Amino acid sequence: MYWIKKDSCSGCGVCMFYCPSEAISMNGNRAAVIDQEICTNCGKCMEVCPRNAIMHNSVKSE
Ligand code: SF4
Ligand code: SF4
Repeated sequence: MYWIKKDSCSGCGVCMFYCPSEAISMNGNRAAVIDQEICTNCGKCMEVCPRNAIMHNSVKSE
């Protein structure tokens, strides 16, 4: 699964813009959130995040 490290996310919204499945929303413009029900695990968001705030793990560790 892909997930967003809140401490590293600047809330820029780039990942939301590029996600082809519209699985990402902004939590009050502070940090992005991925809806795991919608996410297809394509990895695009991790590629485009300028702060490397998107992680890929089988288990969320934060
Ligand atoms: S692209 Fe990265 S820094 Fe920007 S909102 Fe998404 S996770 Fe946060
Ligand atoms: S992995 Fe793909 S579908 Fe999932 S949130 Fe990132 S860009 Fe969207």
